[in-house]
Order: sequence, then structure tokens, then C-alpha cells
Amino acid sequence: MKKIKIKNNDKGFAIGKIVCVGRNYAEHAKELGNKIPDKPVLFLKPPSSIIYSGDNIIYPDFSNEMHHEVELVLLIGKDVSKANLKEAENAIIGYGVGLDMTLRDIQSEAKKKGHPWTISKCFDTSAVVSDFVLKENCTLTLDEEISLSINGIIKQKDQLNKMIFNPAQIVEYISSLMMLEEGDLIFTGTPKGVSKVNRGDKLKADLTGIAKLECSIT
Ligand code: ZN
Repeated sequence: MKKIKIKNNDKGFAIGKIVCVGRNYAEHAKELGNKIPDKPVLFLKPPSSIIYSGDNIIYPDFSNEMHHEVELVLLIGKDVSKANLKEAENAIIGYGVGLDMTLRDIQSEAKKKGHPWTISKCFDTSAVVSDFVLKENCTLTLDEEISLSINGIIKQKDQLNKMIFNPAQIVEYISSLMMLEEGDLIFTGTPKGVSKVNRGDKLKADLTGIAKLECSIT
């Protein structure tokens, strides 16, 4: 069972389900030729796909186009179902930065055929997470910047306030469809600038003042 690591805290949460939001930044939706959604686009990753800062992302041999997607990740700390906005906000107990690694060639093929995105999103090591910071120890204003660099070159950098749906709205919406439980993680979507990674690349992600991670592609 994979655990969530919380900064300066021994509280060990088992990781539950991982719900991901697609197309939550207008310019990223555009760069992949998608329309801006009127509701969050959702998909899941399995807890087995999780790795931590310092681990290696393993390039699957069934893809030739793996992309990085840097994202704000929410930690859910209590069970919620059909939450209102306030309950949704209260269910979020921590923040981290994560990478939603995506096999873009396989995802594009799946989109064309109307198939699920599972193979492109759920492979082992496809979800990288930093240590999480509890909300009681930090304030998220959404003016923070999220960024990703490959071998020292910045590829993605945007303010969180460019998100179409904010964290509480995302949790409210997801909880209207399925129960969220303690230990669930929510990847909130990626800003523009996604690009291909190669074996040997070193990736660094940063959520200003809150969380950081780094890992290599093997
Ligand atoms: Zn994503």
C-alpha cells in the first residue's frame, strides 16, 4: 500500500483513489486542440502508479511519446459526498505538486477511437508526488506559480489563478458524482507547455513556496 508523505508530520495516510482533472487551463486545452469545458473533465489513475520525489519514471516500451504535465495536487482528509462549496473546501487538508505523466501517442489514438484514456494515464510510475503540506501550515492564495523544468530549462510556468475550476469547485463537482475519502488525491490539471520527455531527462517541479519534486526518466 502506497502512503502519502506529509512534511514534518508522521501522520501516514494510505493513498486512496487518484482523480485527475483534464483541460483545467484554457491555453493547455487549446494547445491540444480541445474545447474549453463547461464542467471539469475527469479520469482516474490507480494508487499503484504513484512514485515520490527522487524516484525514477520508467518509460514504457509501448509508447514513443511520453509528456510531462505538472499539476497542483489536493489531499483529501475526510470523507465527503455531495458537498457544498464550503464542505468541499474543508475536505481539502493539504497541497502538493505532482506530475501526471501521459503517453500522448496512445492518448491521441484512444481519443480518435472514442476509447478510454486508461493505457495512456495509468502505467506504473505515471503519477509523481511531492511531500504534502497541510493546509494548517500554509495558505494557498492561487497567486502561486507552478513550474516544470527539464534539464534546467523551464517548459511550463503559470499561476494557479489561471485554472478554470478552483480547488473547492473541483472537489464539489467530483463529490456530486462519487464519494471522496480520506487519502484520496486530486490532480487539478496542467497549464500550457506540455512536451515530450526522453530517457535520461531530469525533471524538476515547483509549486512556489509550498512543494517541490525532482525525478529522472529511465
Ligand atoms: Zn493532467
